[in-house]
Amino acid sequence: MQIFKEIAPLRAFLRQIRSQNKSIGFVPTMGALHQGHMALIESSKAKSDFTVCSIFVNPAQFNQAEDLKNYPKSLDADIQILSQKGCDLLFCPDETEIYKAGSITGFHFSGLDQTFEGKFRPGHFNGVALIVAKLFNIVNPDNVFFGQKDLQQYFIISKLIADLNYNIKLHMVPTVREDSGLALSSRNRRLDSVQLSRAQGLSKCLIEAKTLLKKGMSFSDTIDNTKTICTSLGLKLEYFELIDFSNFSPALSVELAKEPVICISAFVDDIRLIDNMFLNDK
Ligand code: AMP
Repeated sequence: MQIFKEIAPLRAFLRQIRSQNKSIGFVPTMGALHQGHMALIESSKAKSDFTVCSIFVNPAQFNQAEDLKNYPKSLDADIQILSQKGCDLLFCPDETEIYKAGSITGFHFSGLDQTFEGKFRPGHFNGVALIVAKLFNIVNPDNVFFGQKDLQQYFIISKLIADLNYNIKLHMVPTVREDSGLALSSRNRRLDSVQLSRAQGLSKCLIEAKTLLKKGMSFSDTIDNTKTICTSLGLKLEYFELIDFSNFSPALSVELAKEPVICISAFVDDIRLIDNMFLNDK
């Protein structure tokens, strides 16, 4: 696996790859890699001739200094995992390489960056869009792969690609879960064994809510039920929403939504976890 830390030699190398008529698949990550990230790499390898992964913990998308400070880092292990998986190239720049000149460009998404995740993480999607746009311009990929787990991020990136006319095909990779149902996340590394068993309640909330909604329970009753489960499991619920994925707006009921999906965010002590589940097969 080729490893680049600087933009100029990376661009030169990828120009050669493109001149061989090879398609480039790109998987942006913040490292501390797990099987969820590997599913993205596998999809990229299946759909592209050459797979690029990036690892960059992007300060611009963290709205809390503590969260950034505590974000897990394991570059040596990540390099090993990526090589074993057959990833072709890793781009792992440091902060000065990416933000050499600072940055004054901002993004807004007509309110979408201020709802759901955006409401609780002010500035987060502006930071995400900035790094994703930078990386798209650096790597110039044909295909990009993002996880369903960060569903609002996926939706916003789909708009970024369309609005800015990137010639890039976006692929959604389903959430990879551990056997208990817990969605894999780099932040899970911070959970001790007691916290881990509480965190496993998050996907149980979603499964139960999905069952109740499919049986016809109203969403407001389902919220009450979810709150009760969260309290009993020691999860501090931040939000639980029924969303129509087709426009990423709140859905009044399952029937009125084209693509209903339930999204949840909760804290296990100071560790914030998110998850989502489509109500119909996607
Ligand atoms: P991160 O390193 O957390 O920024 O995530 C990098 C990419 O991996 C994003 O597109 C995430 O949505 C995706 N991802 C993270 N966790 C999972 C998972 N459990 N299953 C599938 N994709 C995931």
